Amino acid sequence: MRHGPSNRIQAALGEMRAVYVSFLPRRFEEIREAWEAARAGGWEHGALVHLHSLVYSMAGSCAVFGFNEMARMAYELQHTLASVVDRHQLPSPQWENHVEQLLGRLEDACVEIRRVIVTASALPPVIAAEPALSPEQESRPVYIVTQDEEFKQDIPQLGYFGYEVILWSEDDLMERDLHASSPAALVVDLDIADRHDTLFHRVRSIRQQAHSSPVPVIFVSTQDDLMTRLDAVRAGGDAFLAKPVDIGLLIERLESLVEPGDLDPYRILIVEDEPAVAEFYAYVLKEAGMVTRIVTKPLEIMPVLVEFNPDLILMDIYMPECSGVELAKVIRQMESFVTVPIVFLSGESDVERQLDAMSLGGDDFLMKPILPQHLVKSVRIRVERSRILRQLTLMDGLTGLLNHTAIEERLHKEIERARRQGTSLAFAMIDLDHFKQVNDTHGHLVGDRILRTLSRVLQQNLRKTDVIGRYGGEEFAVILLDTDGPQGARALDNVRQKFARIKHRTGHLGFQVTFSCGVAAFPEYSGPAELHEAADRALYEAKRRGRNQTILSAQGHFTPVTP
Ligand code: GH3
Ligand code: MG
Ligand code: MG
Repeated sequence: MRHGPSNRIQAALGEMRAVYVSFLPRRFEEIREAWEAARAGGWEHGALVHLHSLVYSMAGSCAVFGFNEMARMAYELQHTLASVVDRHQLPSPQWENHVEQLLGRLEDACVEIRRVIVTASALPPVIAAEPALSPEQESRPVYIVTQDEEFKQDIPQLGYFGYEVILWSEDDLMERDLHASSPAALVVDLDIADRHDTLFHRVRSIRQQAHSSPVPVIFVSTQDDLMTRLDAVRAGGDAFLAKPVDIGLLIERLESLVEPGDLDPYRILIVEDEPAVAEFYAYVLKEAGMVTRIVTKPLEIMPVLVEFNPDLILMDIYMPECSGVELAKVIRQMESFVTVPIVFLSGESDVERQLDAMSLGGDDFLMKPILPQHLVKSVRIRVERSRILRQLTLMDGLTGLLNHTAIEERLHKEIERARRQGTSLAFAMIDLDHFKQVNDTHGHLVGDRILRTLSRVLQQNLRKTDVIGRYGGEEFAVILLDTDGPQGARALDNVRQKFARIKHRTGHLGFQVTFSCGVAAFPEYSGPAELHEAADRALYEAKRRGRNQTILSAQGHFTPVTP
């Protein structure tokens, strides 16, 4: 029998519920023991706080799994305990009796729940799963219709940017269909026909063929007058480029039209002492395409924080070793994590306590029990917002790469990580050759476009995990993770060769631009400053030896990469 996604989730939730129920007797025993210990210790404050947090934890977990009656009892017990814990009052015999009674009722409820067969169908309805994001974007072809020899010569360069090109004749355009493939875009040279009516008509219909969204269309033409442009717009053209076509400009239009898609899945760290509850959140978030990591012992959060580098932290408030509020405070004091949103999960109805936690830097509260679809939505909204903010502060405006400060910070972080994991990393500095001359000859705007072109060539030809930044002006820096010096130098030299082959155009004038590159690697150079200096010296040496080359600095030698 086939199960729909919703059945699948229900079944999984049912299982997690069952797992939690199997934990319940042990949880209750812990509470009993903590109660006895507190009494035996003469109601010492620390012991009471511990007891309180255990009860609180149970209340929250029960609420999460929909054991409402049990959750209500646990909350009542928790409030009774809080009256002594919070006010530092000495327990009265009446209070002690009351707690005993509540404990007894809680124990009965525990036993009762275990007798009930937990069926998945008894659960509240949950989210319809959204398709998980695919890790890699498959390459989609760009169809180009042209007879222009000059344009055709430049077209293979699109390959450097990760586009597969299919060249079509006018007949192909008229007779063939696009719907077999799912094209990234259609580029049509208007010069292939004297009269444009049939061409436009055909493009209009082909654009709509069997796709969920229309295929982006770019027209290119030697004829660049208002009437032609207007007709192009009416035919559904999304962009119009005058010929001769500059490949950098075409790429720019393609990138803005082709669905960008945030393919980097959201990383959510879940800090929650109850494993079953943590699994529950993780399950729900994973179904929504996010990546999760769980920490059940708050004191073990540090290494996970650094390794996992979460977009958001979901934090339980009451945990036995230290409270979520305290933990948030510690995280906020670490420079690298100042901006990570923290969302507290709590059954806390005490508004004052919530405000208290917020003022410590926690970003928000979600009340237990939280519906899966609310959890997903809240998390998604907050991650989106924080990614945008982070981009604005870390991003170089011209190229969209990391800016100077951001790449420096990453270098520090990645060296630390490599040190802990015993891996290597390569660091490269890139500087465009004779760039002042390029600006002087072709103008600053053309210069800017070339900087953007280089940034794309780097992004397309290095791995997704490599870190690319614009260091300033016409200088770029790259961190290649888990890569040694020779490997790193080869990777960068491969980019150098591709970039050098790109023909930039202003008018009919085609010209090429090159860069020089210096590479050094950790652990031979053991800190950011040393790495930086070594890569810089290698870059200088590359310039000295005639530019347009990559040089590795290793073991006190400069080694040029030979293609
Ligand atoms: P070398 O091969 O020695 O590196 O020569 P160069 O001309 O590239 O080096 P120099 O440092 O003398 O000049 C760098 C030039 O880069 C100066 C400036 O015109 C250009 N430049 C720096 N930042 C930008 C920018 O943001 N946009 C543009 N278009 N040009 C820039
Ligand atoms: Mg320079
Ligand atoms: Mg330069």
